[in-house]
Amino acid sequence: MTKQDITGIKQLLSTPKKIVIVPHKNPDGDAIGSTLGLYNFLIKGNHKVKVITPNDYPHFLKWLPSEDCILKYDANKTVCEDLITDADIIFTLDFNAFHRTGNMESILSESDAIKIMIDHHQAPDDYATYTFSDVSMSSTCEMVYHFIDMLGDADSIDKTIATCLYVGIMTDTGSFRFSSTSSQTHHVVAQLLEKGANNSEIHNKIYDTNSYERLQLLGCALSNLKVLPESRTAYITLSQQELNRFNYKKGDTEGVVNYGLSVNNIVFGAIFIEDRQEGIIKISLRSKGDFSVNEFSRAHFNGGGHTNAAGGKSHLSLEDTVAKFISILPSYNKALNNE
Ligand code: 5GP
Ligand code: MN
Repeated sequence: MTKQDITGIKQLLSTPKKIVIVPHKNPDGDAIGSTLGLYNFLIKGNHKVKVITPNDYPHFLKWLPSEDCILKYDANKTVCEDLITDADIIFTLDFNAFHRTGNMESILSESDAIKIMIDHHQAPDDYATYTFSDVSMSSTCEMVYHFIDMLGDADSIDKTIATCLYVGIMTDTGSFRFSSTSSQTHHVVAQLLEKGANNSEIHNKIYDTNSYERLQLLGCALSNLKVLPESRTAYITLSQQELNRFNYKKGDTEGVVNYGLSVNNIVFGAIFIEDRQEGIIKISLRSKGDFSVNEFSRAHFNGGGHTNAAGGKSHLSLEDTVAKFISILPSYNKALNNE
C-alpha cells in the first residue's frame, strides 16, 4: 500500500460513506476479529457500515463486540445483496479471491463499489482498487492495526477495537507460537493490551468453552491419527458418521489438525473431514519449516493459503481422498526429509 493509496483512502473516508465489510466463507477468528475491528473503527467516522459474512461461524466467536450486528448472506440474501449493490466501498478481509466467499462471488464481482483488500494470503487477485496484501503478516487483524495506524488514527483504537484485533492475532498465530509471529506482531499486541484488550479473558472465551461432546470428538480424531514416518507426515480423518455421533457443531474441529504436527519428528499434518451436505472432503494442511502446504494444496486439492497453513477440498470419497494423499506423498519425501 503506497503513500498515495493512503492519501486516497483518507480522502475517501473523510465524508460519510456506505460501507460493507466481507470476510471469507466459514469465517475463523481472524476473519471475524478483523471485520469487527475495522467495523468498530469505521463507525466512529459516521459511516454506515455493515459486516456481511457468507455464512455462519463458530459459537466461540459469538461474544465479540458488535458481533450481533453481523448479517449472514446465506440467511438474508436479499437484504445483503441490496446493501452490496448500494455500497460506496467494500472492504474484503482475510481472503484475496472472490471465490473464497462461496455464493457471494457473483454479487461481489458485479459490484462497482470501490474495493479495498486487506489480506495476508499468497497470490492475491487484482480486483481491488486498493490492495493491502502482505504475506509476511501473522494475520489480517495485525494488518488492520497497521491500516488504522497508517491512516494516522491509532489513537482512536479503544478497548472494543483492540479486543477484536487481539482475537484474530491470537487465533491465527496459534497463541503466538507459529513462525508467522514476528517481533512486530508482539509490538502490535503490546499496543492492543495497552488499549485495554484483556488477553487472559479473551483466551478463556475462545479456548475454554468446550462441550463434553467436542472433547469426545477430539478423542475420536486422535484415535484415527495415522503416522507415515518415511514422509514425516501425520493425518487424521473424521467421517460424517463420526461427526454425527458426537453431535458436531461448526468450530468443533478447529485446531484439531495441529495435533498431527505435535508428534515427534513430524513436519506435515493433515486432516480430512467428510461433509456430506456439501458433498466434499474438507482438507486442512499444516507444516513446519519450508515445506509449502499452500503449493501442495494448489497442486492437488483445489486450495491454497499460506506456506505453513492451507486448506483445500476433494470431491472423492473420504477413503479415496486419503488414498490419493498417500499416493502423492512419496514424491515429496525428499523435501519433507530436508526439513
Ligand atoms: P483452514 O485449514 O484453517 O481451513 O485454513 C488454513 C488457511 O488456508 C487459512 O488461511 C484459510 O483461509 C486458507 N484456506 C482454507 N481453505 C482454503 C481453500 O479452499 N482455498 C484457499 N485458497 N485457501 C484456503
Ligand atoms: Mn487470517
